Amino acid sequence: MKHPKEEVTFVMLKPDGVRKGLIGEVIKRFEQRDLKIVALEMFQPTHELIDTHYPKDEAWITRLGEKTKNTYEKYGYDLIADFGTEDTSKIGPEVRKWLISFMTSAPLVKMVVKGTHAVDVVRKIAGETMPYKADMGTIRGDFSNDSPALANKEKRAVMNILHCSETPEEAEHEIKHWFGNSETYDYKRFGVDE
Ligand code: ADP
Repeated sequence: MKHPKEEVTFVMLKPDGVRKGLIGEVIKRFEQRDLKIVALEMFQPTHELIDTHYPKDEAWITRLGEKTKNTYEKYGYDLIADFGTEDTSKIGPEVRKWLISFMTSAPLVKMVVKGTHAVDVVRKIAGETMPYKADMGTIRGDFSNDSPALANKEKRAVMNILHCSETPEEAEHEIKHWFGNSETYDYKRFGVDE
């Protein structure tokens, strides 16, 4: 069992986060909540690295398709007109493609964030996945109003400023994927670690 202060999570600013000039704002919000940035880098992702970052299993892809189908039903949009099918296992891969093309459209900023409950606290600071639903005071709620209703009409991924791991296991996997064997840089935060 790790010490609570040793928990790490993976965060990546998406193209909209970078292009809205929110790199500093995002880092500030983690740091002011007593979390530490222990690795940080801007880079231009390859199609392949993004493709292998997002799960490829049937269940995850179909879930993406289901979300889109739900949105279409809720707003009375025509799935057949936009996708030529109502089959979520065929719509899912389309949405995954939008996600890959969005994520490779600008440089990204990746980081490892460390501290007590890092995974959950980072997701709380980020806010709900869909910005139009995110509470004010969260990054997504303060800086975006995007929604699947709009994104799907425009045939693109929902732009929600940042990605953050959902569980400690996912964090470990993603840190390995994005940082490989690169070093992280631990240090003692005043007022937090001593
Ligand atoms: P999270 O990023 O919060 O873990 P998901 O794993 O559900 O969320 O989805 C991955 C990303 O795919 C989201 O962050 C968002 O950018 C995009 N996305 C999710 N659902 C849809 C959708 N219905 N239409 C377009 N893009 C979507």
